[in-house]
Amino acid sequence: MDRSLFTEEHQTFRTAFRQFVEREIKPHQARWREQGQVDREVWRKAGAQGFLCTWLEEKYGGPGADFLCAMIIMEELAYAYESGFAMGLHSDIIVPYIYSFGNEEQKQKWLPGCASGELVTALGMTEPGTGSDLAGIATTAVKDGNDYVINGQKTFISNGQLCDIVLVAAKTDLDPANAHRGISMFVVEANRKGFHKGQRLHKMGMASQDTSEMFFEDCRVPAANLIGAEGGGFMMMMQKLQQERLAVAIGAVAGAEQVLADTITYTKERKAFGKPISKFQNTQFRLVEALAKVEVGRAYVDKVVGEHVAGKYLVKECSMAKFWTTDMAQEVIDTCLQFFGGYGYMLEYPVTRAFMDARVQRIYAGTNEIMKVIVTKQLEL
Ligand SMILES: Cc1cc2nc3c(=O)[nH]c(=O)nc-3n(C[C@H](O)[C@H](O)[C@H](O)COP(=O)(O)OP(=O)(O)OC[C@H]3O[C@@H](n4cnc5c(N)ncnc54)[C@H](O)[C@@H]3O)c2cc1C
Repeated sequence: MDRSLFTEEHQTFRTAFRQFVEREIKPHQARWREQGQVDREVWRKAGAQGFLCTWLEEKYGGPGADFLCAMIIMEELAYAYESGFAMGLHSDIIVPYIYSFGNEEQKQKWLPGCASGELVTALGMTEPGTGSDLAGIATTAVKDGNDYVINGQKTFISNGQLCDIVLVAAKTDLDPANAHRGISMFVVEANRKGFHKGQRLHKMGMASQDTSEMFFEDCRVPAANLIGAEGGGFMMMMQKLQQERLAVAIGAVAGAEQVLADTITYTKERKAFGKPISKFQNTQFRLVEALAKVEVGRAYVDKVVGEHVAGKYLVKECSMAKFWTTDMAQEVIDTCLQFFGGYGYMLEYPVTRAFMDARVQRIYAGTNEIMKVIVTKQLEL
């Protein structure tokens, strides 16, 4: 499918990142899955080559490119079946909070490390008691002199082991009447007293991703670590969640695309009843249907990304792209897995892992049901 989104420079960037994937990612993937996290070193290598925070200006240590380069990275990681190296989460979901809402001093302090890979970030919103209902978080940050004292627990936090700084959502106003206006965002350095990383969680998929719990016990942070205005956290999250949803949609389409391509190859090679299974009409029709879905998804996501890059604020479109593409990817990968027969149930087969990896896309970054709640509100139904 021709894609008008990218310039020749973007294609050059894609080639360079693809080489990085071949050299620095693919040889290590099996080991990363085994150890439950990527190597710390690969973050620095990615930073050194300008693959982190692609959109960040040079004055903060970034390469000064754009979000389309970020999109290329997300796609290439999906093409390589790498679901644990959370470059997109770090570069395009978490760091933008510091960039957009941090003051100059905070930007100077943290952004260069984020771009170089010296600082790996995590985002702590979800808690054991609440995920979808962010206004219901129970973690508190109580002002004490020039500090805030944070208490609470977070769970399902990506990069939970490797992170050096965590952007934490906490309640600074405990009045239930101010649930939305009472949330603030803090940068907590991993070496702060009172901050503890919990166990890496055992997940269905994303084997190389160090998703973990986090604990805050009288964790004292200076007021200088407050990002944006006190009480502005909910507004910041609502603003930044559009790009997060789009990032998930980008990964979903690329993942489905790769699995489908590999399945087409497999069905031409695998024989049953004396002929390749690609010669059965059932195979042909199901693969054609899958291709149509992937291409429709690709066209829509490219359109929304184009408008997002042009500066439009697209709540409805990003939400629809997130739920539709992740449902589609799950369906397409399930269809593909069936053509692998028993091999499609074996963990050494990428299609099997892709099936398990895809499931979470319908859950995180706001569940697909929450996406529909958002679109419903947009329609004023
Ligand atoms: C692998 C993984 C990585 C993650 N990474 C991070 C991370 O880095 N940082 C972070 O903060 N969080 C992270 N999360 C958490 C994720 O964002 C939440 O799990 C998700 O938002 C859902 O919240 P919940 O699990 O509390 O489910 P709940 O909110 O309890 O939802 C349970 C069910 O109820 C449905 N539901 C809830 N409200 C409504 C409603 N109003 N209408 C209809 N249905 C509704 C939901 O759709 C869902 O099906 C991660 C999760 C996973 C699994």
